[in-house]
Amino acid sequence: MSWSEDKPIVSIKDVKKSFGSLEVLKGVSIDIMKGEVICIIGPSGSGKSTLIRCINALNDIQGGSITVEGREVHDEELDKLELRKKVGMVFQQYNLFPHKTALQNVMMAPLKVLKEPKADVEKRARALIKKVRLEGKENSYPGELSGGQQQRVAIARSLAMRPDVMLFDEVTAALDPETVKEVLVTIKDLAAEGMTCILVTHEMGFAREVADHIYFTDKGVIVEHGAPEEFFDKASDPRTKEFLSQVL
Ligand code: ADP
Ligand code: MG
Repeated sequence: MSWSEDKPIVSIKDVKKSFGSLEVLKGVSIDIMKGEVICIIGPSGSGKSTLIRCINALNDIQGGSITVEGREVHDEELDKLELRKKVGMVFQQYNLFPHKTALQNVMMAPLKVLKEPKADVEKRARALIKKVRLEGKENSYPGELSGGQQQRVAIARSLAMRPDVMLFDEVTAALDPETVKEVLVTIKDLAAEGMTCILVTHEMGFAREVADHIYFTDKGVIVEHGAPEEFFDKASDPRTKEFLSQVL
C-alpha cells in the first residue's frame, strides 16, 4: 500500500493491548497527520507509555492496527529496524553512553546502524547539537551536563537517524524544574520545523501552546480529545475535568 501525505502518517485503530489478564489498552484510535503535534495526557497507569511503545513495536498488540506511513507496524514481515529509523523515541531516562562525549553519543547510531561515512555523520551530528542549542558542549561527557542538557543530547541522538515521526514519553518528568523549559523549547523548535510529534506530557502549558490535538486517556480508553482551546476550556467528561482540576 502506498502512502501519501493526505493520509495519516500514523494511524492507530481500535488498538487492544493486554499484559496477561491485565487489559491496558481497550480500543484506542488516533490519527496523526504529517507535521502535527499531538499530546497524550492522563493519570499514571492509564496506558500512555504502553501506547507509545506499541507505535514503534516495542510492545505487541492483541487487536486493532497501527500503521506508520501506511505500513502495518505489527506485521511480522515488517523490518523493525526500518520502522525504528522512521520513528524516533525519547524517554524519561536518557541513557546516554557515559564514556562517550555528547558528539560521540549523537554519532553512534548513524555510524553503527546506518553505516554512513564518518565525515557526513559528524557534520550532521554537529548541526544537530547546534539545533538542540548545545553548541560548545560537543566534547562534554554526560556527567558534565545537566539533566536538561543530557536530555537534549538524547533528542539529537534520536534525530540523527532522520526520523519522520518523534515519540516523546514524559521526557521532562525526571528533570529539575529549571531545565524543563530548555527541553520544551527544543521540542517546540522541532514542531515549528514540521516534525510530526507524539508526546506524553504533564506539562499542560506546553501542551496547550504546542499541540494541535490533545487526547486524554483513562484506564486504557480515550475519554476525551480536542484542539487545546476546546479541550482545556470545555472538557465535558468528569474524569478529564477532575484530572485537569488537579494539574492546572
Ligand atoms: P502510564 O504510562 O499511563 O503511566 P503504562 O502504560 O506504563 O501507564 O502502564 C499501564 C499499565 O500496564 C499499568 O498497570 C502497568 O503496571 C502495566 N504494564 C506496563 N508495562 C507492563 C509490562 N511490561 N508487563 C506487565 N504490566 C505492564
Ligand atoms: Mg508512562
